Amino acid sequence: MQRLVTLFFFACVAYAQSGSKTAELLSDLIRIDTSNPPGNELKMARFLAEKFKPLGFQIDIIPTGDPLKAHFIARLKGDGTKKPILLAAHADVVGVEKEKWTVDPFAGVIKDGYVMGRGAIDFKGGLAVFARAVMMLAENKVKLHRDVIFLSESDEEGGKYNTTALAASNWDKIDCEFAINEGGWIIKDESGKVKYVSISTADKSSVSLLVTARGTSTHSSMPRADNAIFTLAKAMAKIADYDTRPKLIDSTKEFFLTLAKTSQPPVSTYFNNLVNSTDPKLVEEADREISKDTLLHAIMRNTIAPVLLNAGFRGNVIPGSAEATLNFRTIPGTNVAELISEIKAVINDPRVDVTQIVVNRAPLPPAALVPSTKQTVLFEEMVKQAQTIWPGAPVTTYLFQAGTDAMAWRSRGIPVYGIYPYPITANDLTRMHGNDERVPVASLDQGTEYIYKTLLAVAAKE
Ligand SMILES: [Zn+2]
Repeated sequence: MQRLVTLFFFACVAYAQSGSKTAELLSDLIRIDTSNPPGNELKMARFLAEKFKPLGFQIDIIPTGDPLKAHFIARLKGDGTKKPILLAAHADVVGVEKEKWTVDPFAGVIKDGYVMGRGAIDFKGGLAVFARAVMMLAENKVKLHRDVIFLSESDEEGGKYNTTALAASNWDKIDCEFAINEGGWIIKDESGKVKYVSISTADKSSVSLLVTARGTSTHSSMPRADNAIFTLAKAMAKIADYDTRPKLIDSTKEFFLTLAKTSQPPVSTYFNNLVNSTDPKLVEEADREISKDTLLHAIMRNTIAPVLLNAGFRGNVIPGSAEATLNFRTIPGTNVAELISEIKAVINDPRVDVTQIVVNRAPLPPAALVPSTKQTVLFEEMVKQAQTIWPGAPVTTYLFQAGTDAMAWRSRGIPVYGIYPYPITANDLTRMHGNDERVPVASLDQGTEYIYKTLLAVAAKE
């Protein structure tokens, strides 16, 4: 009880300090622990329903096969002359190493101008911004020529009741002309100046390959030359010394040229050379220098990560085979058969085979991997409004380095634009999925204004 009273007291102090409705909402959302597993997204859905219902939204709580998980949909009706716009945000978060935090990660603490807690950046902060922007349309009684749909999803961080499952069962409720979800970044420097705004138009995909080395299974007292574990180790050593070549799609070129504009030589020269130089030596040097940043290294190529090893079953038997799993994050347009040939050529050993690990789901339709077009009123307005709110900051497209829940729409040919809608420093970004995750209150307010103005431009009647 004492603890409850204290918590209540701190919550009140937090509210008094922030003066921001988005920060207050985010603080509330963080207090609903949706660490996945188990997720508990139904609790969040019920909380959101109470917020949206009084404002005149049509509410749907979509149950899943797990009684604790649900999707939440709030629809604000327009006159139907245009197709809806959708804002999607995942309700679940990853777990915490609580002892490494300086505050309770699920207390929704607002301190020193920041909202702190698990999900502050990924993606309850975005959920709060999207929710507040959509609520403001209702509060201000804005007349709409298209429906505005707000979606809070379960199972983005893992699990099977994700947007792909939701789209399969309830497509009519989330069908739209275009959508916004998580993705690109609004990066600011330590002085608070926004350096650039990146809006993702595509996500990388995950492909896993199994590397299998074969040898003779026998008694460990009489080792032979054809030892599967040694053969696998040699193959893995070759892969460790190898890296794939840069593969720049249009959004990555635009992104690097934007970074060139916002940085000083020699870094700006590296970015320019990587995109434009025809001299292989200069490209190689640029790749080497730029790749010191692991994020930039990742978005320009198919990345290779060994993730699992499997060999042997007892101490006196030499096993007949040894396996390693390599997880690749691939650039849109990558052909898996070609990737397998590339890796086989690197290993160059007939005793080693490379095959794709087929996950138990339908292969992605080609449309899912095609970057979303920039030729929509939504994309144009996201650029225009960003330029108004953060004048002087270039706006660029971006290839998101991991996967998001955008697949459900992109695979149906619907453009999705990704943004974490709050200016953030590169330093604070490292706290995402880490410890003391936090987002500035002022950034949440700017993001809410950004999304609200974009919605006005795209959905409001003149
Ligand atoms: Zn996320």
